[in-house]
Amino acid sequence: MIEIRSLEKDKEKLSFILKDSTHSFANALRRIMIEDVPTMAIEDVEFRKNSSILYDEVIAHRLGLITLTTDLKSYNIPDECKCDGKGCARCQLKMTLKTKGPAMVYASDIKTRDAAIKPVYPKTIIVKLLKNQALELEATAVLGKGSVHSKWCPGLVYYKQRPIIEIDSKCDGCGKCVEVCPTKTLELKDSKASVSKDHLLDCHLCEACKDICPKEIIDVKSANDFVFYIESWGQLEPKKIVVEALKIFERKLDNFKELLKENK
Ligand SMILES: [Zn+2]
Repeated sequence: MIEIRSLEKDKEKLSFILKDSTHSFANALRRIMIEDVPTMAIEDVEFRKNSSILYDEVIAHRLGLITLTTDLKSYNIPDECKCDGKGCARCQLKMTLKTKGPAMVYASDIKTRDAAIKPVYPKTIIVKLLKNQALELEATAVLGKGSVHSKWCPGLVYYKQRPIIEIDSKCDGCGKCVEVCPTKTLELKDSKASVSKDHLLDCHLCEACKDICPKEIIDVKSANDFVFYIESWGQLEPKKIVVEALKIFERKLDNFKELLKENK
């Protein structure tokens, strides 16, 4: 059984516990989130003018790495689009950039026709132009997957097993484990070592407490629960990354089922 409980959330971060699961399931979910959930990024750049200090290739690379807010409803991945990847309004967005020096060129100088797709961090610097230098280009942004290029990766996803720390009642409160714990997970309560509820999930299972305890009465184990952390790069909300990953997971399993049926 899988139970997902939200622990904390803000605009860029989300954390939840996947209960009673396995390493293989947790890792499949993690990999789908970082490799298969699509986001928008610049893929092609056509330069009209570039007299800046940076080569076209360098600027194109920098443009590709600019995180763009992503609207998954309005766009298709080019290969899966009705146009067969030729390029249409449903699978690509043209963007333009036209500036003259002296000026600092920022991501916010990129003009787009779709207000839903714009740089997440407008102050990202592209290049500095000196007097008489100019930059003029047309870029094409498309949906893509992190498995093809990390510029399409929606964020950082990692997990750890939920720790279980057991302390025998024979504890005499020497406090050595409290001192050695790097995450402040252990505390002294009524002259005995105990686990701090607020810091239990900070524990990274280093077992320093177990090693230092003179009475050898501390046991550190890991549960079959996985604490997930999702940190979005900004293209999609963290909750959206999880929801999309689950949809993709379901689709993959359906495809697998169909293939099995066909090969009976
Ligand atoms: Zn298309």
